[in-house]
Amino acid sequence: MKNKIVDLFNIQFPIIQAGMIWCSGWELASSVSNAGGLGIIGSGSMYPEVLNEHIIKCKSHTNAPYAVNLPLLYPNAEEHIETIISHKVPIVFTSAGNPKTWTRELKKNQIKVVHVVSSVKFALKAQEAGVDAIVAEGFEAGGHNGIEETTTFCLIPDVAKAINIPLIAAGGIVDGRGMLAAMVLGADGVQMGTRFVASQESSAHLNFKNKILDLNEGETKLTLKEITPVRLIKNEFYHEIEKIYQNDGDVEELKRTLGRGRAKLGMFEGDMTNGELEIGQAASQLKHILPAGEIVRQIMTEFNEAKNALMVK
Ligand code: NDP
Ligand code: NDP
Repeated sequence: MKNKIVDLFNIQFPIIQAGMIWCSGWELASSVSNAGGLGIIGSGSMYPEVLNEHIIKCKSHTNAPYAVNLPLLYPNAEEHIETIISHKVPIVFTSAGNPKTWTRELKKNQIKVVHVVSSVKFALKAQEAGVDAIVAEGFEAGGHNGIEETTTFCLIPDVAKAINIPLIAAGGIVDGRGMLAAMVLGADGVQMGTRFVASQESSAHLNFKNKILDLNEGETKLTLKEITPVRLIKNEFYHEIEKIYQNDGDVEELKRTLGRGRAKLGMFEGDMTNGELEIGQAASQLKHILPAGEIVRQIMTEFNEAKNALMVK
C-alpha cells in the first residue's frame, strides 16, 4: 500500500499501534513493526533506565522502523529525550503537552515527530510547531483524552480540512472497517491502542486482557476531568470516584482517592477491583487475544474486503 503515512514512516501499512502506559513495551512494538505496521514503545510508565532497556530490546528484535511515545507531562521527559536521541530512535510520538517544547530538538537530530491532539485548535498548534504528522484522537479512545468530548467521526473531517500535513485517526478504531471509515473521512492512517492491548505480546496483565474481552457497550466512561480526563472501565475504583462526584467532593478529594500508581496496579499487576483500567469504547467489539502480527494482517484483510464490498454496491 502507498500513501502519505506509509511513505513518511517507511512502513508497509498505515497501521500504528498506540504507545500505552504499562501495555506497550518492546515486545509489542517490535512485533507490530515486524508485521509492517508501526510499533510504539509507551515510555510514560518507564523510568529512564527502563526505556533504555526497551529501546535496546526493540532494536534487536526488528529492523523495521519503530517509535517511542513520550507524554510531555512525564516528570523526567528531558532524560527520555536524551535516551531517544542517543539511540537514534527514528520516530517520536509526543502527547499530553506543548509540541513546541521538544519538536525542534528532535527534528534537529533527524527524528520524525508526530503529536497527538484532540481538537482542531491543538492540531493547528502542532502543525505550527513543525511536526511531521498529527494523530487526532476522538472521545472514544481509552486513557487520557480531550476535554471537549469530540468524537472521531466529527474530529477527523474538521482536522483534515484545517491542516496540510499527514493525519492519523485514533479513537474507536479496532478493525479494518473502522480503518476504512477513518480514511474515507480524511485520515491517511490509523492508530489503535485498545485492539493491541488484547494481543499476546502486550505487557498488560492477563486479568486486564480478559476483562477487556468481557466488556459490553457502555461499560467505560470518561472521568476525572478536573485532574486529567481519562476513559476507564466502570469497576469498583471508578464507582468510588463517582461517589465523590455525587457528594460534591472537591479536586483534592479526587486526587487523594486516585493516589499514585493506580494504573500500574490495574493494568500491569492485574487488580481489577482497585486499579485504574484505561481502555477505549470499542473494546466491546473484541473477542480474542491474538498475536500482534496476526492482528495487523487481519486488519488489512478486513480493510480490503470492506473496500471491495463498497465498490460492488
Ligand atoms: P519482565 O517482564 O521480566 O519484568 C521484569 C521486571 O518487571 C522485574 O523487575 C519485575 O519486578 C517487574 N514486574 C514484572 N511483572 C510485574 C508485575 N506484574 N507487577 C509489577 N512489576 C512486575 O521484563 P520486561 O523487559 O518486560 O520489563 C522490564 C521493565 O519494563 C519492568 O520494570 C516493567 O516495569 C517495565 N515495563 C513497562 C511497560 C510500559 O510501561 N509500557 C511495558 C512492559 C514493561 P520484580 O523483579 O521486583 O518483581
Ligand atoms: P502516577 O503518578 O499515578 O504514577 C506514576 C507511575 O509511573 C508509577 O506507577 C511509576 O512506577 C511510573 N513511573 C515511571 N517513571 C516514573 C518517574 N520518572 N517518576 C515517577 N513515576 C514514574 O501516574 P500515572 O500512572 O497516572 O501516569 C504515569 C505516566 O503515564 C504519566 O507520565 C502520564 O502522563 C502517562 N499517561 C499516559 C497516558 C496516555 O494515554 N498516553 C494515559 C495515562 C498516563 P512505579 O510504581 O514502579 O514507581
